[in-house]
Amino acid sequence: MIEVKAIPCKSALSRSALPGLMYAFNPYVGCQHGCLYCYVPDVLKGRVSSSEWGGEVLVKEGVLDHLRADLKRLRPGAVGVSTVTDPYQPVERSLGITREALSMLKDAEFPVSVQTKSPLVLRDLDIMKGDNFEVGMTITSMDDAFRRCFEPGAPPPEERVHALEEASSKGVRTWIFYGPVIPGFNDSPEEIESITGLAQRTRSRILYDRLNIKPMMLTRIGRILSVNDILSIRRGTLERTFRTLEDTCKRRGVRCDSAF
Ligand code: SF4
Repeated sequence: MIEVKAIPCKSALSRSALPGLMYAFNPYVGCQHGCLYCYVPDVLKGRVSSSEWGGEVLVKEGVLDHLRADLKRLRPGAVGVSTVTDPYQPVERSLGITREALSMLKDAEFPVSVQTKSPLVLRDLDIMKGDNFEVGMTITSMDDAFRRCFEPGAPPPEERVHALEEASSKGVRTWIFYGPVIPGFNDSPEEIESITGLAQRTRSRILYDRLNIKPMMLTRIGRILSVNDILSIRRGTLERTFRTLEDTCKRRGVRCDSAF
């Protein structure tokens, strides 16, 4: 059972230090996708409980009014939607805050980069026309067993693949976020072949990242990873994997960049 509550907010667009972005728009605090590796509970410093992560969503009250005001006073620049939690988590289906925000950003001619794990993004392709929009889909693995373990509330990989293909076929610029890569779980050569093949088919760039284990994550991720897994991840055993990924991308003509 998901608990949805309203919280006050003071502004809609915050400055972003992420590459290629000037601003971030995050309408929701908390994320129903409930990924075990999510670092966001750390960022929120207890505003949403880490042990209940995935079970509570806070909706920023009046965030669209603030966005309207921000768009009038700020210099145009690229906006990440969202950079902290998923803008297309299930609650968005009924609230439509992300959809309304995209419309306003479009009218104000602010470029937008969406990142999600959800095919709900397809609902809004009618807004995302033109060069000012791009859609990033997080594909951690092509195997649903990975999703069931690590991303229990997120849509299955085949739905994400379909959404990416659909967005690309409609002319939207797309990219894949392949991360976090967890040694022994989603770093096999077969996985790399499938994900790079998808990138080639959809003309998507790949951005990849490793798992950075934070103390607050340990209770959740410790349900799946053993102490040995955690130690080996901390020692960093992914150099060979990332070399294979980059070589495969080069062979397929796919642009590939590290996110760290
Ligand atoms: S989808 Fe992203 S924000 Fe949501 S729980 Fe998973 S990692 Fe965290």
